[in-house]
Amino acid sequence: MSDCIFCKIIAGQIPSAKIYEDELIYAFLDISPINFGHTLVIPKEHHQSAAAIPENVAGRMFHVASRIGILLKRMEEFDAYNLHLADGTAAGQVVMHAHLHVIPRGAEDNFRWNWRQLNYPEGKMAEIAGSIAEKLQKKLAE
Ligand code: AMP
Ligand code: ZN
Repeated sequence: MSDCIFCKIIAGQIPSAKIYEDELIYAFLDISPINFGHTLVIPKEHHQSAAAIPENVAGRMFHVASRIGILLKRMEEFDAYNLHLADGTAAGQVVMHAHLHVIPRGAEDNFRWNWRQLNYPEGKMAEIAGSIAEKLQKKLAE
């Protein structure tokens, strides 16, 4: 896609700190990291939504991202990592070329997810699970 910043990075039109590249995916350092080493793993083909990424490419992304995570967590003061993916603006997606964040984490890194924990009203959990399960069956059969 001609006006996509990540497509331009893959094409070498914009510089990047490359970590890895194969025929399906590209990995490079995030320019504004949560911690140093914060990496982005992207499909070479332009897809806005992660859900549009073919299964073999998505699998490759996860495979390589988790291995980058293992390497990152042995570096510096890190001993853990987060994988993060935002699909859609409301979820925090800013760059509209699907990407998987690999974020090295350490107990003393002073970064906390603002993660709330709601409670389901009586019956709601089973209702939502049933609804998702039914729709997922159809989606996976498409
Ligand atoms: P998201 O909010 O999930 O869409 O994340 C987009 C990420 O892309 C942000 O963490 C940015 O710092 C990163 N980013 C944007 N432009 C560049 C660039 N030219 N090189 C590396 N990372 C970038
Ligand atoms: Zn793109």
